[in-house]
Amino acid sequence: MAASGKLSTFRLPPLPTIREIIKLFRLHAMKQLSQNFLLDLRLTDKIVKKAGNLTNAYVYEVGPGPGGITRSILNAGVAELLVVEKDSRFIPGLQMLSDAAPGKLRIVHGDVLTFKVEKAFPGTLKRKWEDDPPDVHIIGNLPFSVSTPLIIQWLENVSQQDGPFTYGRTPMTLTFQKEVAERLVASTGSKQRSRLSVMAQYLCHVQHILTIPGRAFVPKPEVDVGVVRLVPLTRPGIQQPFKLVEKVVQHTFQFRRKHCHHGLGMLFPEARRPESTEALLQRADVEPTLRPGHLSVAHFRRLCDAYRHMCDRDPGLFAYNFREELRQKKSRPQTGEAWRESDSL
Ligand code: SAM
Repeated sequence: MAASGKLSTFRLPPLPTIREIIKLFRLHAMKQLSQNFLLDLRLTDKIVKKAGNLTNAYVYEVGPGPGGITRSILNAGVAELLVVEKDSRFIPGLQMLSDAAPGKLRIVHGDVLTFKVEKAFPGTLKRKWEDDPPDVHIIGNLPFSVSTPLIIQWLENVSQQDGPFTYGRTPMTLTFQKEVAERLVASTGSKQRSRLSVMAQYLCHVQHILTIPGRAFVPKPEVDVGVVRLVPLTRPGIQQPFKLVEKVVQHTFQFRRKHCHHGLGMLFPEARRPESTEALLQRADVEPTLRPGHLSVAHFRRLCDAYRHMCDRDPGLFAYNFREELRQKKSRPQTGEAWRESDSL
């Protein structure tokens, strides 16, 4: 008890400001890497506070850069903070923070898209999926070009309970372009409802916890930034493989202004599209004239279950790709040419 009390009262000693660190190590933001830094430590404290109680927790920070959020995490009394940063220019500044917080900050010069965090923390932290979330948290302000593919990768990991979710239902607190944050939390029927809303919400409890104006970053990005907290659900809203859900959701939203049967129809070969689409919608008990944005997770659950049933009966169906069928149709020789080809055989 005494030891944990000690850990939770840790504060970093006085240090140069983030602005001074940037100057000292010549860390000008690289536009081509979409680097925008948070220098205001009150703001980074606010983000970290919203991530939950980090006392004695193990935290994985993605893309620490000059270390604003990193400082706030260290001041939250964590047991250990592991940071993964791709740009080597930031390592000396982070090393300075590590010296100021002995034994607490582990720095990896690497890529978050390939880093295996499941091996990084003690196995004793693992919790059963149905239990409360483990004492492991993910926090990060990454470039938008990285945070969006990364969240898709992590949602697949959530569905498989692997990667960062080997420890259990690890909560994530991440920044996104504000529009993407709004899509992540968009409810059924709202204007922003999209693929990402369904994919995130069938697997996680998703909250848009904070909006940060672009002017809070240096240099200022073109857009405002949304901070989103995602906690994996104990029981996903759809009990089918991630790739199957992804396929159904992606097909549904490809014609987002049309009735949902248009997009869903493309799951089936052209020759039997109308009857297969009708069979799918009937089995799923979904109105064909609903628009994609008006479909709830429960609608998608029934559509995915019905599609799975049809795939189980027709083993070639899941591999069917209407774009491939279109391409083949276009490259197929015209009737006359086909005759000429067969003549020469
Ligand atoms: N988190 C810092 C902040 O809030 O001030 C820096 C934010 S900046 C938008 C994004 C950081 O992520 C940069 O330091 C960049 O080098 C790093 N980064 C970008 N892609 C990365 C990747 N694939 N793996 C690890 N770090 C990455």
